[in-house]
Amino acid sequence: MKTGCQDRRSQSHGTIRSLGTGPSGSPPIGMRKSKTSRWRAAVLILVNLLMVAHIFQWRITGRTVSPIEPSETMYTLQNGAINAGFIFFALAILATLILGRFVCGWGCHILALQDFCGWMLKKIGIKPQPFRSRLLVYVPLIAALYMFVWPTVRQRLFSSETGPLIPKFTNHLVTSNFWETFPSVGVAIPFLIICGFLTVYFLGQKGFCTYACPYGGFFGLADKLAPLRIRVTDACNQCGHCTATCTSNVLVHAEVKAHQMVVDAGCMKCMDCISVCPNDALYLGFGKPSITVPTSPTASIHYSVTWSEEILGAVVFLGSLLALRDVYGLVPFLMALGCAAVTTFLTLKIWRLLKTNDVFFHRFALKSNGRIQTAGWAFVLCAAAWIGLNAHSGWIRYHEFAGTRAFQKIRIPDELALAKISPTSWLSPVEKQCVLVGERHLQAASDYGLFTNPNTLSKLAWLEYLSGAAERSVRLLGQAAQFQKAQARALSLYYRGAILNRLHRCQEASVSLDQALSEREDLILAREEKGESLWLLGRKDEAIEVWTGAIERNSRLALTGNLLAGALRSVGRLEEAATYEKQADEATPNDALYHWMLAWRLNDLGMSALARKHFQRARELGGRGDSSGGFGDSR
Ligand code: SF4
Ligand code: SF4
Ligand code: SF4
Repeated sequence: MKTGCQDRRSQSHGTIRSLGTGPSGSPPIGMRKSKTSRWRAAVLILVNLLMVAHIFQWRITGRTVSPIEPSETMYTLQNGAINAGFIFFALAILATLILGRFVCGWGCHILALQDFCGWMLKKIGIKPQPFRSRLLVYVPLIAALYMFVWPTVRQRLFSSETGPLIPKFTNHLVTSNFWETFPSVGVAIPFLIICGFLTVYFLGQKGFCTYACPYGGFFGLADKLAPLRIRVTDACNQCGHCTATCTSNVLVHAEVKAHQMVVDAGCMKCMDCISVCPNDALYLGFGKPSITVPTSPTASIHYSVTWSEEILGAVVFLGSLLALRDVYGLVPFLMALGCAAVTTFLTLKIWRLLKTNDVFFHRFALKSNGRIQTAGWAFVLCAAAWIGLNAHSGWIRYHEFAGTRAFQKIRIPDELALAKISPTSWLSPVEKQCVLVGERHLQAASDYGLFTNPNTLSKLAWLEYLSGAAERSVRLLGQAAQFQKAQARALSLYYRGAILNRLHRCQEASVSLDQALSEREDLILAREEKGESLWLLGRKDEAIEVWTGAIERNSRLALTGNLLAGALRSVGRLEEAATYEKQADEATPNDALYHWMLAWRLNDLGMSALARKHFQRARELGGRGDSSGGFGDSR
């Protein structure tokens, strides 16, 4: 275990101190200012302005180029949706393969935030100190593989729904739903604060890039092959100014001495080192890539943690990531990575406070001669609050996960469950158990969570419906819809409308279904239900019109076809009814459950003749309706 003094020293460029570094937070004496940093700041400001202009253009015109954001590549790889983000990311990786990480250094808005935070901290006398870990540096690459490669591998190897190896490509270069794949503004702001500011304060100026960013994982790999690198001439006298100015924590002087070039894949080609070199010894030039260099000068790196702390840190990082990822349906993967990196740092610092006599953080002495100082107690309080929040999120995430797993084990088709109110008697014993377990976990997540998770709330609503609590289910679906994005909101409103129809609260059902259709005009299930609301309200012509419209969109709709046939038969339009009935019979699956469902829906609307036909067909085919006893009453 290192001493407290070592603790402080390990977070700085120890070799540079001996090379004339000034007082903490200041550059080495006589070091010239970088001329490129202003240019880079201007370019990064321009990048941010262009992003804002992109959003404004979309808000004003309603359509725009899809987000130029690497994460969009996931949709290309999984669904074949070619979008601007994929094209940008592919070009950026190709550019990095030749030129190194210029895209990172000169084109990334998160890097701009990190630089801005670093600049602000320096203004108040705090120089972000690099946290150096041997294990956590692999996080970006692992995260990149998990984000971009694993979904495809899982789909190919472990899913029953295997598709073609190369998906069918579709054009998504222009979109009217620009924000669809982004978190809400309420999440985006903490995301930027955590990934742009907290990571810098705790982990160093490139904290997020080094320990969290999945794109950096790929850029770092590509950089190793890039022939364009920072190289050195014989004029270098090892003054160390280059290392002192580097905000990517590259040991420039050591690397150029050992390899005549910068080999660290963390170099973002900001060019500051070239600009500050007093002997003009550095230049940007083509030559051998860094992959040809067998080893990096790790001997001169002072790691911030011991090996046992590395292992503890890796465990904490993984636990924190699992706890935070998607908790409340709010925390995106990148934000969870940034938070996990901060949690790991804080935990290790607390560990140091417990184990060593002297601990420093920036210019603060947290513990001195075995006594925790005022700054130390403040640090402990803040860290405990953060870690406690993290642990609470983990507990909620556990309930969300366990509840969702139970929910997914329930196999009863939605159409069957919605055929009549209180479908409990149709559930198998295993499904009944899953309903109980799912309700318990999702209720706990809802009761003790700090935020509403609309996705788990809608699952809880469905479990409530299956257990016979239809009124409560309606309430929960209404709550969930308030927090959901358009696609999910449309579904919640549809289910709400369907259950209200079963409860014969048709006016409310009609409103809910109209809202669902205003979110998703193509939601044919909502159209079917809307027809039922109108029919039950006695607005038969309108109901027939709605069902006819749905059938015109898709003639293979078995339920709608049967409803339309039953309706036309009821109003005496027998010839048309016969045509639609024949068409519906061809589309109806030869499945007992499906016929039970049709029979109940038709029966509920008073279309008893057609209902009898399907009851009869269901009995002939057998199935779960016979044994449960739930169907007997109607016949
Ligand atoms: S590593 Fe990620 S966050 Fe950092 S500059 Fe590159 S793309 Fe941006
Ligand atoms: S490359 Fe330039 S700045 Fe860096 S150690 Fe050599 S002389 Fe100093
Ligand atoms: S090594 Fe030089 S170019 Fe690379 S990030 Fe550091 S200062 Fe910038």
